[in-house]
Amino acid sequence: MNISKIPWTHGTWNPWIGCHAVSPECAGCYARADREKKGCDFSTLVLTSTWNAPYTLNALAGRQGCCAFMFASSLTDWFHHDADGWREDAWSVVRECKNLIWLVLSKRIKDAEACLPEDWTENFNHVWLGTTVGHRSSLGRVDALRQIPCSKRFLSIEPLLEDISTELDLDGIGWALVGGMSGELWQEKQMRIEWAASLYDLTRRTGTPFFFKQASTGKSEQGSNALGLHLAERQGLTADPKTVDLVREVPETPLPLLPLNREKGRRFSVKEWHRYQEQ
Ligand code: SF4
Repeated sequence: MNISKIPWTHGTWNPWIGCHAVSPECAGCYARADREKKGCDFSTLVLTSTWNAPYTLNALAGRQGCCAFMFASSLTDWFHHDADGWREDAWSVVRECKNLIWLVLSKRIKDAEACLPEDWTENFNHVWLGTTVGHRSSLGRVDALRQIPCSKRFLSIEPLLEDISTELDLDGIGWALVGGMSGELWQEKQMRIEWAASLYDLTRRTGTPFFFKQASTGKSEQGSNALGLHLAERQGLTADPKTVDLVREVPETPLPLLPLNREKGRRFSVKEWHRYQEQ
């Protein structure tokens, strides 16, 4: 069980790996790049040997009297049809790990309702469903997400490929995560910081927690202070890049959340992580 480098979650779980592109936001898919670098065929889904990993974080959070975020899945799509034969078993893991807030993020959210377990409304209140929308052509996913009963819905607005702030309807959405393209395509598909600022303004009107991940950069997690600097500048203030607010809000959770160190853009240090594991 590793600490995820993704700043809005504690852990990630991929019961299977593999996928294929479905929309413009897939252009810089880091999972594909990573698998292909290792010589693997990304378009064939394969099961992983990580099925016990969620229980580790679940137990750790339980010992602290806390909950923790678990992002499912970062290297595939939870609702990919090639995983139809495995998903029921994966739901069983989710059902049992109730100290985790499961962040199930999918670009195939239109297929989700048919893939939910029979006891979805009774036993899965600890699952937050999300979808990706970084381009106008993906806005229909937000309506599809709204149709599904669930305790909280969230949007991954990353990579943000154009200004969608005037068309995006945040009704029923409980968290907005925003960021620019990272990796090899970051220069070709750069996010303008004004687009992120317009979304931030929208969330101020709707009362939606807003988490700015990063500007468009070559490396994930660089430029996490870009929006804070822009907002300060917009007010005519001069901010210090080292101390400026990272603009990282997290929704209320039923139990206290394990630390998310938003100041440094990390969840907790490796030292802290080991301390938690020993307790
Ligand atoms: S849906 Fe996600 S995992 Fe699948 S190709 Fe697109 S970005 Fe990659």
